[in-house]
Amino acid sequence: MSPASGGLRSSDDDQALPFQLDALGVRGRLVRLGPTLDDIIERHGYPLAVARPLAEAMVLCAALATSLKYDGIFTLQISGDGPIRLLVTDLTTDGALRGYAQFDSWKLAVALGAGNHDAPEGYVPKLFGRGRLAFTVDQGQHTERYQGIVPLEGATLADCAHTYFRQSEQLPTGIKISAQRTVTDGVGHWRAAALMVQQMPEFDAGRIDVDREQREDDWRRAVILMASATEAEMLDAKLPGTTLLYRLFHQERPRQFERRPFVARCRCSRQRIDRVLRSIKREELGDMRDPSGRVVVKCEFCSTEYAYDDRDLDRIYASAA
Ligand SMILES: [Zn+2]
Repeated sequence: MSPASGGLRSSDDDQALPFQLDALGVRGRLVRLGPTLDDIIERHGYPLAVARPLAEAMVLCAALATSLKYDGIFTLQISGDGPIRLLVTDLTTDGALRGYAQFDSWKLAVALGAGNHDAPEGYVPKLFGRGRLAFTVDQGQHTERYQGIVPLEGATLADCAHTYFRQSEQLPTGIKISAQRTVTDGVGHWRAAALMVQQMPEFDAGRIDVDREQREDDWRRAVILMASATEAEMLDAKLPGTTLLYRLFHQERPRQFERRPFVARCRCSRQRIDRVLRSIKREELGDMRDPSGRVVVKCEFCSTEYAYDDRDLDRIYASAA
Protein backbone atom coordinates (compact mmCIF):
# COMPACT_ATOMS: atom_id res chain seq x y z
CA MET A 1 0.00 0.00 0.00
CA SER A 2 1.18 3.55 -0.63
CA PRO A 3 1.60 5.81 2.40
CA ALA A 4 -1.25 8.03 3.57
CA SER A 5 -1.82 10.97 1.24
CA GLY A 6 -3.75 12.94 3.83
CA GLY A 7 -6.89 12.19 5.76
CA LEU A 8 -7.57 8.79 7.23
CA ARG A 9 -6.94 5.67 5.27
CA SER A 10 -6.72 2.05 6.15
CA SER A 11 -5.02 -0.98 4.68
CA ASP A 12 -8.43 -2.11 3.36
CA ASP A 13 -8.96 0.90 1.18
CA ASP A 14 -9.71 0.33 -2.48
CA GLN A 15 -10.17 -3.41 -2.15
CA ALA A 16 -12.82 -6.08 -2.21
CA LEU A 17 -12.53 -8.59 0.61
CA PRO A 18 -14.40 -11.77 -0.44
CA PHE A 19 -15.63 -14.13 2.25
CA GLN A 20 -17.73 -17.23 2.67
CA LEU A 21 -20.00 -18.41 5.48
CA ASP A 22 -19.81 -22.16 4.95
CA ALA A 23 -22.28 -22.99 7.71
CA LEU A 24 -24.95 -20.83 6.02
CA GLY A 25 -24.14 -21.64 2.38
CA VAL A 26 -23.55 -17.96 1.71
CA ARG A 27 -20.74 -16.01 0.11
CA GLY A 28 -20.15 -12.30 0.24
CA ARG A 29 -17.76 -9.41 -0.02
CA LEU A 30 -16.89 -6.24 1.75
CA VAL A 31 -15.80 -3.49 -0.63
CA ARG A 32 -14.21 -0.33 0.67
CA LEU A 33 -13.16 2.61 -1.48
CA GLY A 34 -11.14 5.61 -0.33
CA PRO A 35 -8.33 7.35 -2.26
CA THR A 36 -9.58 5.85 -5.54
CA LEU A 37 -12.82 7.75 -5.07
CA ASP A 38 -10.94 10.96 -4.24
CA ASP A 39 -9.05 10.55 -7.50
CA ILE A 40 -12.16 9.97 -9.58
CA ILE A 41 -14.72 12.25 -7.95
CA GLU A 42 -12.80 15.30 -6.75
CA ARG A 43 -11.50 16.18 -10.22
CA HIS A 44 -15.06 16.45 -11.54
CA GLY A 45 -16.05 19.13 -9.03
CA TYR A 46 -19.64 17.84 -8.87
CA PRO A 47 -22.05 19.13 -6.23
CA LEU A 48 -22.34 16.80 -3.24
CA ALA A 49 -25.85 15.70 -4.26
CA VAL A 50 -24.38 14.31 -7.51
CA ALA A 51 -21.04 13.15 -6.13
CA ARG A 52 -22.47 11.01 -3.34
CA PRO A 53 -24.79 8.99 -5.61
CA LEU A 54 -21.78 8.53 -7.92
CA ALA A 55 -19.68 7.26 -4.98
CA GLU A 56 -22.44 4.83 -4.02
CA ALA A 57 -22.85 3.67 -7.61
CA MET A 58 -19.09 3.04 -7.88
CA VAL A 59 -18.97 0.92 -4.74
CA LEU A 60 -22.08 -0.96 -5.94
CA CYS A 61 -20.38 -1.52 -9.31
CA ALA A 62 -17.25 -2.84 -7.56
CA ALA A 63 -19.29 -5.21 -5.36
CA LEU A 64 -21.33 -6.63 -8.26
CA ALA A 65 -18.45 -6.87 -10.71
CA THR A 66 -16.18 -8.75 -8.31
CA SER A 67 -18.93 -11.29 -7.65
CA LEU A 68 -18.99 -12.25 -11.35
CA LYS A 69 -16.56 -14.25 -13.41
CA TYR A 70 -15.74 -12.18 -16.47
CA ASP A 71 -12.78 -10.97 -18.45
CA GLY A 72 -13.39 -7.48 -19.70
CA ILE A 73 -15.48 -4.53 -18.57
CA PHE A 74 -18.42 -4.42 -16.18
CA THR A 75 -20.54 -1.27 -16.54
CA LEU A 76 -23.30 0.08 -14.33
CA GLN A 77 -25.43 2.81 -15.88
CA ILE A 78 -28.35 4.72 -14.40
CA SER A 79 -30.39 7.03 -16.59
CA GLY A 80 -33.54 8.94 -15.79
CA ASP A 81 -35.64 12.07 -16.32
CA GLY A 82 -34.61 13.67 -13.01
CA PRO A 83 -31.88 16.21 -12.18
CA ILE A 84 -29.18 13.52 -12.63
CA ARG A 85 -29.70 12.44 -16.24
CA LEU A 86 -26.97 9.87 -16.44
CA LEU A 87 -24.50 8.14 -14.18
CA VAL A 88 -21.95 5.71 -15.58
CA THR A 89 -19.29 3.71 -13.79
CA ASP A 90 -17.23 0.79 -15.00
CA LEU A 91 -14.64 -1.64 -13.73
CA THR A 92 -12.19 -3.78 -15.68
CA THR A 93 -11.19 -7.28 -14.58
CA ASP A 94 -7.79 -5.95 -13.52
CA GLY A 95 -9.40 -3.43 -11.16
CA ALA A 96 -9.43 -0.11 -13.10
CA LEU A 97 -12.40 1.92 -11.92
CA ARG A 98 -13.86 5.14 -13.33
CA GLY A 99 -17.16 7.03 -13.34
CA TYR A 100 -18.97 10.23 -14.23
CA ALA A 101 -22.40 11.85 -14.05
CA GLN A 102 -24.40 14.26 -16.18
CA PHE A 103 -26.85 16.53 -14.41
CA ASP A 104 -28.98 19.65 -14.76
CA SER A 105 -27.92 22.26 -12.15
CA TRP A 106 -31.23 24.08 -12.27
CA LYS A 107 -33.35 20.96 -11.80
CA LEU A 108 -31.00 19.86 -9.05
CA ALA A 109 -31.38 23.12 -7.10
CA VAL A 110 -35.17 22.89 -7.40
CA ALA A 111 -35.21 19.23 -6.27
CA LEU A 112 -32.96 19.85 -3.27
CA GLY A 113 -34.67 23.03 -2.06
CA ALA A 114 -32.95 26.09 -0.62
CA GLY A 115 -29.97 25.47 1.65
CA ASN A 116 -29.67 21.74 0.90
CA HIS A 117 -26.55 20.44 -0.80
CA ASP A 118 -26.40 16.74 -0.05
CA ALA A 119 -28.57 14.03 -1.59
CA PRO A 120 -31.50 13.45 0.77
CA GLU A 121 -32.29 10.10 2.37
CA GLY A 122 -33.90 7.78 -0.21
CA TYR A 123 -32.79 10.12 -3.00
CA VAL A 124 -33.36 7.90 -6.04
CA PRO A 125 -36.87 9.09 -7.06
CA LYS A 126 -36.01 12.73 -6.37
CA LEU A 127 -32.65 12.87 -8.12
CA PHE A 128 -33.05 10.31 -10.92
CA GLY A 129 -36.80 10.49 -11.52
CA ARG A 130 -38.21 7.75 -13.70
CA GLY A 131 -35.46 5.74 -15.25
CA ARG A 132 -33.59 2.53 -15.57
CA LEU A 133 -30.62 0.71 -14.17
CA ALA A 134 -28.47 -1.30 -16.55
CA PHE A 135 -25.58 -3.68 -16.00
CA THR A 136 -23.42 -4.66 -18.93
CA VAL A 137 -20.58 -7.16 -19.17
CA ASP A 138 -18.43 -6.63 -22.23
CA GLN A 139 -15.81 -9.28 -22.85
CA GLY A 140 -14.53 -7.86 -26.10
CA GLN A 141 -15.02 -8.69 -29.75
CA HIS A 142 -16.39 -12.07 -30.78
CA THR A 143 -18.20 -12.59 -27.47
CA GLU A 144 -21.80 -11.98 -26.58
CA ARG A 145 -22.47 -8.90 -24.49
CA TYR A 146 -24.51 -9.56 -21.39
CA GLN A 147 -26.95 -6.84 -20.42
CA GLY A 148 -29.48 -6.69 -17.60
CA ILE A 149 -31.91 -3.75 -17.49
CA VAL A 150 -34.54 -3.03 -14.87
CA PRO A 151 -36.73 -0.01 -14.15
CA LEU A 152 -35.31 2.21 -11.41
CA GLU A 153 -37.48 1.03 -8.54
CA GLY A 154 -36.60 1.85 -4.96
CA ALA A 155 -35.65 4.70 -2.67
CA THR A 156 -31.94 3.88 -2.52
CA LEU A 157 -29.44 2.41 -4.96
CA ALA A 158 -29.31 -0.73 -2.80
CA ASP A 159 -33.12 -1.05 -3.20
CA CYS A 160 -32.73 -0.68 -6.97
CA ALA A 161 -30.06 -3.39 -6.98
CA HIS A 162 -32.43 -5.65 -5.02
CA THR A 163 -35.10 -5.04 -7.67
CA TYR A 164 -32.58 -6.14 -10.28
CA PHE A 165 -31.68 -9.33 -8.41
CA ARG A 166 -35.34 -10.25 -7.97
CA GLN A 167 -36.43 -9.49 -11.52
CA SER A 168 -33.47 -11.09 -13.24
CA GLU A 169 -33.74 -14.34 -11.29
CA GLN A 170 -30.29 -14.03 -9.82
CA LEU A 171 -29.33 -15.92 -6.70
CA PRO A 172 -30.90 -14.32 -3.62
CA THR A 173 -28.65 -11.35 -2.84
CA GLY A 174 -28.56 -8.72 -0.12
CA ILE A 175 -26.50 -5.55 -0.32
CA LYS A 176 -25.89 -2.55 1.89
CA ILE A 177 -24.13 0.59 0.61
CA SER A 178 -22.85 3.75 2.20
CA ALA A 179 -20.76 6.75 1.09
CA GLN A 180 -19.58 9.89 2.79
CA ARG A 181 -17.37 12.90 2.12
CA THR A 182 -15.44 14.46 4.96
CA VAL A 183 -13.20 17.51 4.88
CA THR A 184 -9.83 17.40 6.68
CA ASP A 185 -7.67 20.55 6.67
CA GLY A 186 -9.70 21.92 3.79
CA VAL A 187 -9.25 18.81 1.64
CA GLY A 188 -12.21 16.58 0.77
CA HIS A 189 -11.92 12.83 1.29
CA TRP A 190 -14.35 10.16 0.19
CA ARG A 191 -15.12 6.83 1.74
CA ALA A 192 -17.64 4.34 0.46
CA ALA A 193 -18.43 0.77 1.44
CA ALA A 194 -20.61 -2.06 0.23
CA LEU A 195 -21.42 -5.22 2.12
CA MET A 196 -22.96 -7.97 0.04
CA VAL A 197 -24.18 -11.50 0.77
CA GLN A 198 -25.38 -14.02 -1.79
CA GLN A 199 -26.90 -17.46 -1.37
CA MET A 200 -24.67 -20.04 -3.02
CA PRO A 201 -26.05 -22.64 -5.43
CA GLU A 202 -26.67 -25.80 -3.38
CA PHE A 203 -24.05 -27.79 -5.20
CA ASP A 204 -21.31 -25.14 -4.77
CA ALA A 205 -22.16 -24.83 -1.11
CA GLY A 206 -21.81 -28.60 -0.65
CA ARG A 207 -25.16 -28.59 1.13
CA ILE A 208 -27.30 -30.86 -1.01
CA ASP A 209 -28.53 -32.59 2.15
CA VAL A 210 -29.83 -29.33 3.66
CA ASP A 211 -33.61 -28.99 3.35
CA ARG A 212 -35.36 -26.01 1.88
CA GLU A 213 -36.61 -24.63 5.16
CA GLN A 214 -33.15 -24.74 6.71
CA ARG A 215 -31.70 -23.04 3.65
CA GLU A 216 -34.22 -20.23 3.96
CA ASP A 217 -33.52 -19.81 7.67
CA ASP A 218 -29.78 -19.73 6.99
CA TRP A 219 -30.24 -17.15 4.26
CA ARG A 220 -32.41 -14.98 6.48
CA ARG A 221 -29.80 -15.17 9.20
CA ALA A 222 -27.02 -14.04 6.83
CA VAL A 223 -29.12 -11.05 5.72
CA ILE A 224 -29.91 -10.06 9.32
CA LEU A 225 -26.24 -10.24 10.30
CA MET A 226 -25.22 -8.20 7.26
CA ALA A 227 -27.89 -5.60 7.96
CA SER A 228 -26.62 -5.22 11.52
CA ALA A 229 -23.49 -3.44 10.21
CA THR A 230 -23.80 0.27 10.91
CA GLU A 231 -22.79 2.90 8.34
CA ALA A 232 -20.22 4.19 10.83
CA GLU A 233 -18.58 0.74 11.01
CA MET A 234 -18.63 0.27 7.26
CA LEU A 235 -16.96 3.65 6.67
CA ASP A 236 -14.57 3.61 9.64
CA ALA A 237 -11.03 3.77 8.22
CA LYS A 238 -9.63 2.60 11.55
CA LEU A 239 -11.73 -0.55 11.65
CA PRO A 240 -10.03 -3.27 9.57
CA GLY A 241 -12.36 -5.17 7.24
CA THR A 242 -11.36 -8.48 8.81
CA THR A 243 -12.38 -7.16 12.22
CA LEU A 244 -15.69 -5.90 10.86
CA LEU A 245 -16.46 -9.28 9.25
CA TYR A 246 -15.58 -11.05 12.47
CA ARG A 247 -17.78 -8.66 14.44
CA LEU A 248 -20.74 -9.34 12.16
CA PHE A 249 -20.34 -13.04 11.43
CA HIS A 250 -18.04 -14.49 14.12
CA GLN A 251 -20.45 -17.31 14.99
CA GLU A 252 -20.38 -18.42 11.36
CA ARG A 253 -16.59 -18.31 11.22
CA PRO A 254 -16.20 -16.29 8.02
CA ARG A 255 -13.57 -17.69 5.66
CA GLN A 256 -11.74 -14.99 3.74
CA PHE A 257 -10.28 -15.10 0.27
CA GLU A 258 -7.69 -13.15 -1.66
CA ARG A 259 -8.40 -9.43 -1.82
CA ARG A 260 -9.07 -7.69 -5.11
CA PRO A 261 -7.50 -4.22 -5.39
CA PHE A 262 -8.97 -1.25 -7.29
CA VAL A 263 -7.30 1.78 -8.85
CA ALA A 264 -8.64 4.91 -10.48
CA ARG A 265 -7.70 4.55 -14.13
CA CYS A 266 -9.37 5.75 -17.29
CA ARG A 267 -9.12 3.92 -20.58
CA CYS A 268 -9.30 7.00 -22.80
CA SER A 269 -6.41 7.70 -25.18
CA ARG A 270 -5.63 9.91 -28.12
CA GLN A 271 -6.02 6.93 -30.47
CA ARG A 272 -9.54 6.35 -29.18
CA ILE A 273 -10.49 9.99 -29.59
CA ASP A 274 -8.97 9.88 -33.11
CA ARG A 275 -11.38 7.05 -33.91
CA VAL A 276 -14.35 8.98 -32.50
CA LEU A 277 -13.44 12.03 -34.58
CA ARG A 278 -13.02 9.92 -37.71
CA SER A 279 -16.62 8.73 -37.23
CA ILE A 280 -17.82 12.36 -37.45
CA LYS A 281 -17.74 14.29 -40.73
CA ARG A 282 -15.01 16.94 -40.62
CA GLU A 283 -17.40 19.74 -41.60
CA GLU A 284 -19.57 18.86 -38.60
CA LEU A 285 -16.79 19.59 -36.09
CA GLY A 286 -17.60 23.33 -36.05
CA ASP A 287 -19.40 23.27 -32.69
CA MET A 288 -16.48 21.53 -31.06
CA ARG A 289 -13.94 24.24 -31.88
CA ASP A 290 -12.59 26.48 -29.12
CA PRO A 291 -11.96 30.23 -29.68
CA SER A 292 -8.51 29.50 -31.15
CA GLY A 293 -10.08 27.16 -33.73
CA ARG A 294 -8.84 23.91 -32.22
CA VAL A 295 -11.21 21.01 -31.77
CA VAL A 296 -11.21 20.06 -28.10
CA VAL A 297 -12.65 16.75 -26.92
CA LYS A 298 -12.99 16.17 -23.21
CA CYS A 299 -13.20 12.67 -21.74
CA GLU A 300 -16.25 12.64 -19.49
CA PHE A 301 -14.81 9.97 -17.25
CA CYS A 302 -11.55 11.69 -16.31
CA SER A 303 -11.90 15.26 -17.67
CA THR A 304 -8.72 14.93 -19.76
CA GLU A 305 -8.86 17.26 -22.74
CA TYR A 306 -7.58 16.25 -26.15
CA ALA A 307 -6.95 19.17 -28.49
CA TYR A 308 -6.61 18.96 -32.28
CA ASP A 309 -5.44 21.74 -34.58
CA ASP A 310 -6.07 21.66 -38.32
CA ARG A 311 -2.83 19.82 -39.00
CA ASP A 312 -3.87 17.07 -36.54
CA LEU A 313 -7.25 16.86 -38.26
CA ASP A 314 -5.59 16.61 -41.69
CA ARG A 315 -3.70 13.60 -40.39
CA ILE A 316 -6.79 11.95 -38.87
CA TYR A 317 -8.99 12.39 -41.89
CA ALA A 318 -6.19 11.41 -44.28
CA SER A 319 -5.84 8.05 -42.51
CA ALA A 320 -9.62 7.60 -42.65
CA ALA A 321 -9.62 7.87 -46.43
ZN1 LIG B 1 -10.58 9.52 -19.66
